[in-house]
Amino acid sequence: MTQKDFRVLLYYKYVAIEDPVAFAAEHLAFCKELGLLGRILVGLEGINGTVSGTVEQTERYMNHMKADPRFKDIMWKIDEAEGHTFKKMHVRPRKEIVHLGLEQDINPLEITGDYLTPKEFMTRMQADNTVIIDARNDYEYDLGHFRHAVRPDIENFRDLPAWMEEHKEDFAGKDILTYCTGGIRCEKFSGWLKREGYGESVGQLHGGIATYAKDPEVQGQLWDGQMFVFDRRRSVPINQVEHVIVGKDYFTGEPTERYTNCANPECHKLMLCEEKHEAFYMRSCSDDCRRAKRNFFVEENGWTKEQVEEQIAKIAQVQRQIV
Ligand SMILES: [Zn+2]
Repeated sequence: MTQKDFRVLLYYKYVAIEDPVAFAAEHLAFCKELGLLGRILVGLEGINGTVSGTVEQTERYMNHMKADPRFKDIMWKIDEAEGHTFKKMHVRPRKEIVHLGLEQDINPLEITGDYLTPKEFMTRMQADNTVIIDARNDYEYDLGHFRHAVRPDIENFRDLPAWMEEHKEDFAGKDILTYCTGGIRCEKFSGWLKREGYGESVGQLHGGIATYAKDPEVQGQLWDGQMFVFDRRRSVPINQVEHVIVGKDYFTGEPTERYTNCANPECHKLMLCEEKHEAFYMRSCSDDCRRAKRNFFVEENGWTKEQVEEQIAKIAQVQRQIV
């Protein structure tokens, strides 16, 4: 295996940071000096980041962080990459580094689910009386998820508690397992589940799917599809043993793992879509978006209003046949 020149780091740490505004400004200057690109959030409750850089730059960054007692035990998730996966470098102060939308927020240092290693998680997933809850958004689930995991019907993490309350009885007496990309969302979510008295027990995948994928023993098993990531790559492989495609084309339902954004810039909805279907559906999620004031697909192709209407009629015809 050849070593790639770049790396993507994903990490978080719940730890008290006294002056997030000053910290963020200083940290941004340091990251820029190193030549890193990415997004880091800083709050009174901790730090949450993902950055890309050369092997040397990311090494220097991790060493710098390890030298700070607050961050010395961060669990780093490291991916190799062909180049930078971000366009800019942001370090932003935030009230919360993860927003679950609670009136009384959770401090994972006080209450959180039981930490499970990838091996423990894999064993517990297969036990009777277990229910696995995906703590990510619906579009993340749709590209890939643990086999038999529950898909909360939410577009935003902050909507998860309300969704859970509506389905509370489904989880009574169950051993609940939760997971997310890097583990940070589950720290709060599993703490909330415990505080609100959900399930018989509440466990979380420590280090998230990213850690599970790299574990030499479990090798990403029981994961179907790919994992959605919030950078230029969009998706990364997880299961090293088998690859089952679960993603479905937004328009035709055919299996696919390719993402595109709706061509109406005001919508910008992420859709799974095969390249061969983009042009026919005008790369737009709905007729409203096809007729939108601005539509990149229409602009790229220099279509007139009449051409747009003609195409919408053709799409309607095909869609009647699919139904
Ligand atoms: Zn749209």
